[in-house]
Amino acid sequence: MKNLACPVCGRPADNLIDGKCKDCFLKTFTLARIPHIVRTIICPLCGAVKKGAHWEGNTAELEDVIHVGIKEALKLDSDARDVQVSIDLTNSDPSIYHANIRVDANVKGIGTNAALRTEVRVSRDTCDTCSRISGGYYEAVVQVRAEGRFPDEKEQVQLVELIEEVIERQYRKGYRLAFITKVDELPEGTDVYIGSNSSARQACKLAAERFGCSYSESPTLVGKKDGKDIYRITYSLRLPRFVPGDIINTRGDAVLIRHSGKRTTGLLLRSGLEFYENTNRLKDAVKIADMDDAMDAVLISVEDDIVQVMHPTTFRPVTLKKPAHLSGRGGEDIRIVIIGDEVFILPPYKENE
Ligand SMILES: [Zn+2]
Ligand SMILES: [Zn+2]
Repeated sequence: MKNLACPVCGRPADNLIDGKCKDCFLKTFTLARIPHIVRTIICPLCGAVKKGAHWEGNTAELEDVIHVGIKEALKLDSDARDVQVSIDLTNSDPSIYHANIRVDANVKGIGTNAALRTEVRVSRDTCDTCSRISGGYYEAVVQVRAEGRFPDEKEQVQLVELIEEVIERQYRKGYRLAFITKVDELPEGTDVYIGSNSSARQACKLAAERFGCSYSESPTLVGKKDGKDIYRITYSLRLPRFVPGDIINTRGDAVLIRHSGKRTTGLLLRSGLEFYENTNRLKDAVKIADMDDAMDAVLISVEDDIVQVMHPTTFRPVTLKKPAHLSGRGGEDIRIVIIGDEVFILPPYKENE
């Protein structure tokens, strides 16, 4: 194979790169360049980095920010492949870092490397978001409440976590106003103060989807900016009074709740017929049981519209009118709930959970 000669130095070569031997090619090749000074402005509170007029990201470690700054300032030859950059930092004071950079790459089949040096000058400035947080800035308040009752602690925690989830997702997307200014725990619920109105609305929508909450918005005029009215929005987020799986007594009927929102739907347990009602007409209803009270029982027989169920604690047969949701013929296991001394047959598991 060594029958080629380099036209530049005349030495034999296995193959030529850009018409030269490997050594002659590398002599004129520059793998990477970097300016002598790289400047970085970082927020000391959140680690955001200033890019032009804007702030971006949030990296907790200054050295990570410097690494990113160096990599962004590094100009690599367009033929460089499999690039690996290692950076060794030393600092003489908190604002000046000296970087020794080694770049390894593959260029046109040749492994090569470059050693570079630069100085990173770090200046610190409070970012727009942190100055707003420290000023108590908020665009919206989400009031976590429940309809006709106080939400329990678990529900409040779930909803605050849901709000945090939405905020975090939006913050990661670069929504810099997606932050929580303050969380107030009150006897009737929790108030969450939020930097961005769109995050607050997004959280309410998700709460409606996930927990059947209802919400209303009310704006308050707080001032003017550039001739425009500035509003703050209060979201009254209400958990439904009853949740799916609750069994309620409404005007003597036992109803298994399936959906609870503006309208409540469910199953009338005695007859097996569907139940629909405007939720605001259920003010007198009370919860009498839920799915945690369900028990297994044996369906003894079904004859026309009369069924017999083995009572799971007394082992005596109980005779009931056949509800429409019962499909068994006798002999199988069913789920029941006992309320007072009455036995109710529950629909098959999947239907309501
Ligand atoms: Zn040569
Ligand atoms: Zn900041």
